[in-house]
Amino acid sequence: MNVKAETLRHVLGVSGGKDSAALAIYMRDKVPDMEYFFTDTGAELPEVYDFLDKLEAYLGKPIKRLMPNGDFDHQLKMHNGFLPSPNTRWCTREMKIRPFEEWVGEDHVVTYVAIRADEDREGYRSTKDNIQPRFPFKEDGLNRADIERILYNSGVGYPKYYEWRSRSGCYFCFFQRKSEWIGLAKHHPDLFEEAKKYEKLETTSGDRYTWSQGESLDELILRASKILESNSNSQNKKIETWQEQLAKIEDESEDESCLICSL
Ligand code: SF4
Repeated sequence: MNVKAETLRHVLGVSGGKDSAALAIYMRDKVPDMEYFFTDTGAELPEVYDFLDKLEAYLGKPIKRLMPNGDFDHQLKMHNGFLPSPNTRWCTREMKIRPFEEWVGEDHVVTYVAIRADEDREGYRSTKDNIQPRFPFKEDGLNRADIERILYNSGVGYPKYYEWRSRSGCYFCFFQRKSEWIGLAKHHPDLFEEAKKYEKLETTSGDRYTWSQGESLDELILRASKILESNSNSQNKKIETWQEQLAKIEDESEDESCLICSL
């Protein structure tokens, strides 16, 4: 990209997750004119907003909130009522990527992406030529332990929801594990009830639209004790803290994760 330094924008998207927060902290003094942004689907967990407030206080500048063109219900209507799923991720395209690309417009930007050195994945790359990614953690060889150190040394710490959920993103995200749905029901019963309202049974065709594969949220909750029991049986007895459990869950679910939503 052959662009004058003074016209080049530097942007960093925080998702409400730990890695992008650590990257924002890491880059604060390296790129003073960094613009921070957060694409708000309107369906984020309350803990995310608390965490963004803490992060803003540390960064000393606002994190720009980008809103999609219409909320989730509007987007759902535009997609004929079809819930998004791992194979049909219109939600990420319409509610995360589009607001970002519209905000950037035709400006030339470098976007800083929080893929760690110990992760084997590509990360978000825009199809637009004026948006070029950089991966500082990969470039500097920073891994999960470094991210944890950055968060604790800054005083920002982890977002509170990590004690029961392994990723940021919408409260109804279909990438959630079954145990995380149980966590949602426990920590945010109101949001769990909201998520249930989106599930559908087409009585004529018998088709079911459920967030979690193979069962409705009501059915999942009926099996809650079995799900939790089988999780604890499969866990390594040496794993004790929630941070260690989180690392294990992340390792297991890395391939399925929502790259732009949950970094
Ligand atoms: S967090 Fe999940 S539900 Fe929300 S936009 Fe991303 S993939 Fe879709």
